[in-house]
Order: sequence, then structure tokens, then C-alpha cells
Amino acid sequence: MINAMITCPKTGKPVPTSIRFGTLAAFDAVILENNVVRCNECGENHLVDNTTVKAFPSEP
Ligand SMILES: [Zn+2]
Repeated sequence: MINAMITCPKTGKPVPTSIRFGTLAAFDAVILENNVVRCNECGENHLVDNTTVKAFPSEP
């Protein structure tokens, strides 16, 4: 599983999104826009798009 994560612009900490992918290829191919995640770190909403999202592989 690939978990899509962003970095909180206020705290610099990784924030998990609810977006997941089966493979890294699927993650690389996706176009994300107008997705917002509620940040666990600062409580604000952050934009999730291709410029902010990072792939964090995890065991299934
Ligand atoms: Zn935040």
C-alpha cells in the first residue's frame, strides 16, 4: 500500500491523508487537485495536490 501524505506547512510534520494507492505506479499516475485534508497537527485544512503530496509505502 502507498499512503499519500503531506507535510504540514505550519509544523513541518507529516500528515496522513485518506488517499491510498495499491502501487507506486498508480500514485505516480494520479492527478490530485482540489483535495483538502484536515490536519492533525495544526487543525487547519491543507491542500493536497501533486505538488504537496508524497508517497509513503507501508506494509499491506
Ligand atoms: Zn497543519
